[in-house]
Amino acid sequence: MKQLTHPVYEIASQVADELGISAYAVGGVVRDMFLGRKSKDIDIVVVGSGIAFAQAVAKAISPHIEVSVFKNFGTARFRYENTEVEFVGARKESYRADSRKPVVEDGTLQDDLNRRDFTVNALAIPLNGPEKGQVIDCFGGLQDMNDKLIRTPLDPDITFSDDPLRMMRAVRFASQLGFSIVPETFEAIQRNAARLEIISKERIVDEFNKILLSPQPSWGINLLKDAGLLQYFLPELLNLQGVEVVNGRGHKDNYLHTLEVVDKIARVSNNLWLIWAALLHDIAKPVTKRYDEKIGWTFHSHEFVGSKMVGKIFNRLKMPANEKLKYVQKLVLLHLRPIALVEDIITDSAVRRLLFDAGDDIDDLMMLCEADVTSKNPEKVKRFMANFAKVRKKLEDIEEKDRLRNWQPPIDGLEIMETFGLGPSREVGIIKTAIREAILDGVIGNNHDEAYQLMLTEAAKLGLQPR
Ligand code: ATP
Ligand code: MG
Repeated sequence: MKQLTHPVYEIASQVADELGISAYAVGGVVRDMFLGRKSKDIDIVVVGSGIAFAQAVAKAISPHIEVSVFKNFGTARFRYENTEVEFVGARKESYRADSRKPVVEDGTLQDDLNRRDFTVNALAIPLNGPEKGQVIDCFGGLQDMNDKLIRTPLDPDITFSDDPLRMMRAVRFASQLGFSIVPETFEAIQRNAARLEIISKERIVDEFNKILLSPQPSWGINLLKDAGLLQYFLPELLNLQGVEVVNGRGHKDNYLHTLEVVDKIARVSNNLWLIWAALLHDIAKPVTKRYDEKIGWTFHSHEFVGSKMVGKIFNRLKMPANEKLKYVQKLVLLHLRPIALVEDIITDSAVRRLLFDAGDDIDDLMMLCEADVTSKNPEKVKRFMANFAKVRKKLEDIEEKDRLRNWQPPIDGLEIMETFGLGPSREVGIIKTAIREAILDGVIGNNHDEAYQLMLTEAAKLGLQPR
C-alpha cells in the first residue's frame, strides 16, 4: 500500500485534530507517491488559515523552526527533515479577461482542486478525520496516471487562457513523467499558444530547463514544437528543421540531429548547461549554410557564429550572463576541435592547444563531441569512437606531463617587466605570447627555467637586455 511517509504528516494530522480543522496533502506529493517518485517539496492545504496552521505545526515540531510567511499569497512554509513544507488555505480563484492575476477568495477543498492545472495534480489525501488516508480524486486523476495522460480538470481553453504558463507545465510534466497530453488538452494548447507571450521569460525558461533535465528531452521539445509554443521563445531551433537538396545532394536534418545529441547527453549527465550546449551546438548551421558545386553543403564557421548566437539567445531569454553563459559559448565554439583532431594525425601540439583552450571543461567537451556522432553507419561510428579513445589517452598523457588544463604562465608579465625595467607595453605582450606558443608547440617545457631562457632570447630580438 502506497502511503505518505514524511514525519510532518503525522504531526500535521494531530494539530489539525486539536484545532478541529481539515488538512490535506495535495498536488505533486500525492501524484509522486502514486508514481513512486521522490517529491522535492510537500504541499498541505487546510480549510481555514494556512498561515496559522503552519505556525501551529511548526510549534508542535520544535520552537526553533523558522516559518516564512507570505501574507500576500496567504501561504507559509518551513523546512523540516530536508524538505520544504508549504501550507496554504483552500482557495477559490477566478480570472477576469483583463488581468492575469486571479481574484482569490477563501474556498472549500473542492474549490481548491478546481483551480489546479492537471488531473494528476488535483489529487488530495486527508491527513485527519474519518477519511484520513483515502485519496480524493474528483477528476479521474488516478486513471489518467495509470494511462500516463496529462489532462486539464476543467475546460482546457479556459485553463490555458487564464494562466498560459500551464501550457509549458503540461509539456514539462509530460516530459518528466513520460506521459502524453490528451488530444482535447493538446489542441487547446495549440489554440492558445500565442498567449505565452504574456508570460515572463524567466518562468518560461524555468519550465524549459525542467524539460531539458527530463529523461528524454526530445519528447518535451517535440511537444513544444507541435503545440506551437517553441516559436515564441526559441525559434532558432525550428530553423534547424528540414533537408535541402541541390543536384541530388542533401544535408542532414539538423533539428533531428540536435535532438539526438541532446538525448544522448541527457542520458549520461544532469549538467543543465552541458545539455544547453548540446541544444545549441549547431544553432548557426542555417545561417552559415552554403552549397558548393565541388564539395556540396558547407557550414563554415558555424561554431563561431553559433557561440555569438548563444549570447543573443541567453540575453533575449533573460538568462544569466555569467560563467554559465561563457561555458555554453565555449563548448559551442570548440565543439569541432576534438573531431578535427581525430580526422588528422594527432599531434602533441594540437592536443596541447585543445587542453589549453578547453581548460577544466575538456571532459564535458569530449562528452559533447562523442554525442555529436549520430551517423547511422556503424563502421564510421566505430572508427570515430576508437579515435576519440586515442585522443582521450593522449589528453591524459599530455596533461600529466605538461599540466595545461589550468595553465598559468611560468613567467608572468610582472616578472618580464621587472627583469627588463619595462612598464606595461607591447614588448611584454610579445614576450608572453612567444613563451606560451613555445610551450604549446612543445619547443620548450612548461617550466620556469626553460621559459626564462626563452624570455632572454626573445627580449634580445627586441633589443632588450636584463637590468
Ligand atoms: P514539482 O514540485 O515536481 O515541480 P508539483 O506538481 O509539485 O511538481 P509545483 O509547481 O510545486 O508542482 O505546484 C504544486 C501544485 O500546485 C501542483 O501539483 C498543482 O496542483 C498546483 N499548481 C502549481 N502551479 C499551478 C498553476 N500555474 N496552475 C494551476 N495549478 C498549479
Ligand atoms: Mg512541488
